[in-house]
Amino acid sequence: MSSDPAGMAAASASGSASASASAAIRAAGVCDGPDAAVNELLAAVGLADHHVHGIVRGQVDEAGLGDMMIESDRRSAAVAAGYDTQVWHAVRRWCAPLLGLPASAPAPDYVAARLALSQEQVAGVMLPLAGFSHLVVETGFKGGMISPPAELAAIAGVPATRVVRLEAIAEQLIGTLADPWTYPDAFRAALAAERTGPDPIVGTKTILAYRGGFDRDLRRPADEAVAQAAATWSAEVRGGRPARLTSDALLRFGIWAAADTGLPLQVHTGFGDPDLDLHRSDPLLLTDFIRATEERAPILLLHTYPFHRNAGYLAQMFPHVYLDVGEAINYAGAASVALVSESMELAPFRKILFSSDAWGAPELHLLGSWLFRRAMSRIIGEWVARRDWSHADAERVVQLIASENVRRVYGLAAA
Ligand SMILES: [Zn+2]
Repeated sequence: MSSDPAGMAAASASGSASASASAAIRAAGVCDGPDAAVNELLAAVGLADHHVHGIVRGQVDEAGLGDMMIESDRRSAAVAAGYDTQVWHAVRRWCAPLLGLPASAPAPDYVAARLALSQEQVAGVMLPLAGFSHLVVETGFKGGMISPPAELAAIAGVPATRVVRLEAIAEQLIGTLADPWTYPDAFRAALAAERTGPDPIVGTKTILAYRGGFDRDLRRPADEAVAQAAATWSAEVRGGRPARLTSDALLRFGIWAAADTGLPLQVHTGFGDPDLDLHRSDPLLLTDFIRATEERAPILLLHTYPFHRNAGYLAQMFPHVYLDVGEAINYAGAASVALVSESMELAPFRKILFSSDAWGAPELHLLGSWLFRRAMSRIIGEWVARRDWSHADAERVVQLIASENVRRVYGLAAA
């Protein structure tokens, strides 16, 4: 296999975490693997988060906080789980000291201290200490409740760019389009417009997993079939139905229009709230679509858990497939080392991206970074300590996964 000059050049242009973030990470003992140099590498590196969301603004109550610490959309599930979850253990362990409490403080103490502060105050403590170098923000889910990318960037103290959710473009378009038969061109124009202006998108995202899943024919539909489906949908919306995109033809049209732009296409796969059927969100079900888009655009398989090994297979087989295990790291907490390790089995190291998928609670932004660093320090540290890898190997792979892959795939400027 020939060497890749672009990949080599990219690895030398990496960013660092801020000095205060690295100091906090060292002081907290986040990186506790068996090799001191690898621990330091993971305390110092800046993380470019390729899929993250804003924080819920203002004040939240105990139930609202509980809702944000579980992936289920049911408050009854949050109540049933209580504080007896990996994510809550991780919050108490790592976030409590940042609010002046002992590590692993009892849940009532943590919640009382935390709810005395606004969301912005908690974020002001936690986001700068996460050690991010760049944020790629998706605004689609409950966008009206959360801080927009510029606000998140200001709190974290790092640049932010955005990706747009395809289904949100469609749902906005159908309510405003005078002639629904022009939908194919209008959608393509709306997508093109997102790429212009002062804050152009760097990628797109689809929630096809939440709109019926992947186990269907995902071939490109003809424009005539798309226009027909848009006319039907438009009539429903005009009749008072909420503009929720579920049309098979329009969903497929959206992902193909996105692939045609050549921009990275984020695809939600795996773990998600019970609005999706998990067995229909295995990325292996995208294999035909992946084959068909090989020359078009990078495909970013988001989250992927518990199908991260399947995603790793696809990343090895196809040149344009990438993956992350964000979101699941927070929810697996102290058990997340295993899944991070499994994500590094088959996937080439140039194909693995860091993400937190944090949404709503600033604790999730912090933990997304700190738990990832902790897992990597143990996994890579052990490989170095056992001399399976050299220190140079460790340094290169950490730089790739921490930020250089994100910068290369999304075309971001070097830090
Ligand atoms: Zn997300």
